[in-house]
Amino acid sequence: MIHPWQQACWESLSQGRRQNHMPHALLLTGPEYCGKLDFARVLAKSLLCESRDVSSQLACDQCKSCSLFEASSHPDYTSVHLAEKKSQIVVDQIRALNEFVYLSRSYEGSRVVIIAPVERLNINAANSLLKTLEEPPEKTVLILVSSNPSELIPTIRSRCQLLHLPQPTLEQARQWLTKQALENPIDELLTAAAGKPMLAKQLDEEERLTTRKQLATDILKLLRGNLSVVNVAKTWEKIPKADLLDWQLQWVQSMIRSNYLGEDEMTDTISPHLYRLMSQSVSNLWELYDGLMELKSHVHTSLSPLLFTENMLLLWHKQSLSR
Ligand SMILES: [Zn+2]
Repeated sequence: MIHPWQQACWESLSQGRRQNHMPHALLLTGPEYCGKLDFARVLAKSLLCESRDVSSQLACDQCKSCSLFEASSHPDYTSVHLAEKKSQIVVDQIRALNEFVYLSRSYEGSRVVIIAPVERLNINAANSLLKTLEEPPEKTVLILVSSNPSELIPTIRSRCQLLHLPQPTLEQARQWLTKQALENPIDELLTAAAGKPMLAKQLDEEERLTTRKQLATDILKLLRGNLSVVNVAKTWEKIPKADLLDWQLQWVQSMIRSNYLGEDEMTDTISPHLYRLMSQSVSNLWELYDGLMELKSHVHTSLSPLLFTENMLLLWHKQSLSR
């Protein structure tokens, strides 16, 4: 979606597009974690759409092209990003891209490419991209995305139309975050993220992961007799009951599944030791699952959080003892 703080930029771009002025290369700049890639994707989708809205220039969301785009299988669209654990975009990635843009297109419309973060092109990759920018294929749009355009070689920068996407105001960031189902207080997250909404969301998710891992560790300590039920329950009574149960139900489900499949499947958030301790008897796992589901029906009752958490932990205890 086009975020509210990007609306003015979208409108200025749309003005040109309504008169058929769309640059063949656009460089989207602006601070990190403020939705530049979202903007780029909305633009790509609308460029490919077979019947976009003339006034808003937004994609129709109904045509074949739009559904192909949403399914990440549009034949006239591709994107280039950093490969996993790599700090640079390498020349082979740009060569593949060049092949793509000079191929004949599948549909009547444009061909669209997103490259992000474009300042991470290594020197060979940058030179290879430069050639494409110098001789742009017909009806092809390259959308380059960068938080640090000063790190780009000037010859690339000068061949693109620049569009600077701003950081949202604090109020805009707050409003966006209220729609995101966060665990932590919005203002705390926003302060930690220096006002950048997508970073605030990421921090919340990381914290959530840490919390989940900690719960698995505490349950393991309980089962090994290193902590008592009361101790663990006191630590966790402040976390919403529904969250606690959902995490555990996911773990138990994945343990049951891997038990049937005979795979060593394991989620990131569950301690491997807990996994090994519990996943040996599938009937125990089913009993634990049923117990947790039963407890789920008490989420909204007046059962005190401490008592609720104690009951929850006792379910694990019981199954680990009856192995
Ligand atoms: Zn469409």
